[in-house]
Parts: sequence; structure tokens; C-alpha cells
Amino acid sequence: MNELRQLTDEQRMIVDTVDAITDDYGHDYWYRCIESDAFVTELWEELADLEFLGIIIPEQYGGAGLGMAELAILLERFGAHGVPLLSFLNTVTMAPIPMMHHGSDELKQRFLPGIASGDLYFAFAITEPDAGTNSFRIKTRASREGDEYIVNGQKTFITGADRADYVQLVTRTTPYEDVADGDKRKGGTLLTVDMESDGIELQPLDLDLPEPANQYTVHFDDVRVPVENRIGTEGEGFLHVFDALNPERIGTAALSTGMGEFVLERAVEYAKDRSVFDAPIGSHQGVQHPLSRAKVDLELAKLATGEAARAFEASDSAAGAYANMAKFAASEAGDQAMDAAMQTFGGNAFSTEYDIITLHNWTRFTRIAPVNNEMVLNHIGESLLGLPRSY
Ligand SMILES: Cc1cc2nc3c(=O)[nH]c(=O)nc-3n(C[C@H](O)[C@H](O)[C@H](O)COP(=O)(O)OP(=O)(O)OC[C@H]3O[C@@H](n4cnc5c(N)ncnc54)[C@H](O)[C@@H]3O)c2cc1C
Repeated sequence: MNELRQLTDEQRMIVDTVDAITDDYGHDYWYRCIESDAFVTELWEELADLEFLGIIIPEQYGGAGLGMAELAILLERFGAHGVPLLSFLNTVTMAPIPMMHHGSDELKQRFLPGIASGDLYFAFAITEPDAGTNSFRIKTRASREGDEYIVNGQKTFITGADRADYVQLVTRTTPYEDVADGDKRKGGTLLTVDMESDGIELQPLDLDLPEPANQYTVHFDDVRVPVENRIGTEGEGFLHVFDALNPERIGTAALSTGMGEFVLERAVEYAKDRSVFDAPIGSHQGVQHPLSRAKVDLELAKLATGEAARAFEASDSAAGAYANMAKFAASEAGDQAMDAAMQTFGGNAFSTEYDIITLHNWTRFTRIAPVNNEMVLNHIGESLLGLPRSY
């Protein structure tokens, strides 16, 4: 699709590079990996060589030292080639950011170069079966014993737990009920946990989301974690994780608009070719307008995502509002584009030959995770409109 935005030379280079490597590692490769239950290992190695795994990691720690806008362009472009990966959000975005902002220099030296080089794969774990969206209610407990924390609890939906070398684990050192002054944001502690540690057990989940990294419930039973693996301050873990939530929302927005473009482009080509009443179906406004509308919504979502990235980099007070709005706009736009594309394809929407259906659950998924759009609207309602909280 033609690019309406003004990209910097660096961003243009990222687009061109992704366009080139997806000749070999595009949508078909992505889907072949999923069908054979394999990770996208060759693509991951290529991403490491191109410094894309460490795109936001500072150069002194082996990364490319670029910003959120470049990360967003990278993810959008992979989405636009039909290659969405949850590992882009976990390992490339969520894992390094709290460490970059709050980790000791020793932690940064130990882990960031490995993330950038692809030698270390990180999972991120906050979700629990009984807490869900209400992360403050997590029960996974880290109790201090000398130079170690002893961790007990369980996390669920943990992407890539089987291939992870480490997990960024959000625990509670003070239970929700015991937090001083009732400030539920306090009492959390973020730990980098070696997945080879004794006491970790994985239970695979059977989910119908085409994704090369699988999901697991992870049980922690008296797992010993050295105190030096703590990121930032004991009791401030939720606040440290919050630093990465806006980037995760921006990344999700970028993947969503990219996937929307992927299906829209295929639908437009089909609508130009397919004639059933002596004229291309794309000439009928019942087909054309939903596609045009999808284009409008995707372009607006891209602008919002770009502004969210700029606000994040500038530590602008509107950064959270923009990141939430971009995530909402983009995930809705991506899913609407999917709907318009499917209607355009008619019965062929379900054909593997035209292959948009493999992204159907993915465009839907981004309305639910990593944060559901109702919570995004709650945030907008409370922080921008000043409406009272119901939960
Ligand atoms: C494929 C996949 C991969 C994932 N990977 C990871 C991972 O690697 N690490 C990790 O920690 N988590 C991961 N998750 C978990 C994901 O972040 C959660 O599923 C998501 O945050 C929603 O939480 P929940 O499923 O518990 O929904 P619930 O909290 O049970 O909420 C269900 C629904 O209720 C509604 N709702 C809830 N509260 C409110 C409210 N206050 N106001 C209005 N509506 C509300 C929303 O519509 C929401 O969708 C993954 C999930 C999936 C499906």
C-alpha cells in the first residue's frame, strides 16, 4: 500500500529491510512454522543479525539504540506482511524496558546484550487465573530469605514459557490485603527468574491462536531467586512494569494496523478482479465503502500510533492517553478491516488459497490482549473525561 506518512530515512530503511527479508520469512513461512509446531527460529536469527531484537536497547548494551517510533514501524511492517509474533511484544518490548529503566548496571550487562543478540529469550508473566485483568490481585508470592526470594504461585497464558531462558515475573512481596494505606500499586516486586530453576513446572494450554510461540500455565513451587535478580526496588514492581505498558500498547497498535493492511490489500486486489454481475465487485459501493472505511480507520490509527510513540519518547504527560487511544483505535481498525476483507472475499474468505483467515483470530485477539479494550475505555473515561471508577 502507498505510504502516506513522512518516514525518516531510518524508518524507511526498516520498512525496506522488512520488505526484503519477508521474501523468505513472510506469511507463508510464518504459517508453515505454526503448522509444524516450530518457532520462527531462522527469522529470529535474522532479526538478531539485523539488530532488530535489540532495536530499543541502548547501543552500550548491544542494541541498536533506536526509539519507540522505529519499533512501531518494525512491528507494523511485519504485521503488513502477515507475520504477527507475540515474541515481538514479550521479548523485544516488555522484557527489556523495565530492566533498561530500573535494573542495576550489573543486571543490564548480564541480560540486555543477550536479548539483543537472540542468545536469551525472555517470557513475561503477570496474568494469573484468578486475577486476570485485575493484576493488582495477583497472588504469586516472593518471600525474602537471606539473599534469595522464595517464589510460590502460578501464572497463566504465558507465551513462550517452554523456550524461555528467563521470565520477567511479577510477584507480590506484600499481599494485596496487607499493603500499607491500601495503595494496591505497592507491594509488587519484579524478578528475573531462570527458567531452569528447580520448582518450575509448565502445563501447556490449548489455544486456537495461530502463533509460533505457545502458551502455558507456569507453576512456581519454592523457586529460589537470587536477590540480585530483582529489577528495581522491592515493593515497586508494578510501577516498574507500568513503564513498559505504554510501549506494549503502542507495539500492539502497530501490529494491528499492519495486519489490517495485509488483509485490506488482499481484499482490494480480489475486489478489482472478481466480477459476478459484469462489473468488478469492488465497483459496488456495498463492497467498496467498507474497504474505504477500513483504509480511513487504519490510516488514523497509524497517526495515533506515531503520536503515541512521540509522546512516549518525549515523556509527555499525554503519553498514556495516546498509547491507550492508539491501541484501541488500531485493534478496532484491524479487526474491522478483517471483517470487511472477509465479506469481500465471500466464500473464498475461508479458502486457504487466498489466506486471510489465518489472521482472523489474531486481529480479534488484539481487542482482548494484552489489555482488553474495555479497560482502555475505562482509562480514557477516568483519566481524560474525569468519570468515576466502577471497579
Ligand atoms: C494468546 C495469549 C497470549 C498471552 N500471553 C501472555 C503472556 O505472555 N504473559 C501474560 O502475563 N499474560 C498473557 N496473556 C494474558 C492476557 O494478557 C489476558 O488474557 C488479558 O489481559 C485479559 O485478561 P483475562 O483473560 O484474565 O480476562 P478477564 O480479566 O477475565 O476479563 C474478561 C473480560 O471481562 C471484561 N472486563 C474485565 N474487567 C472489566 C472492567 N473493569 N470493566 C469492563 N470490562 C471488564 C473485558 O471485556 C474482558 O475481556 C495472554 C493471553 C492470550 C490469549
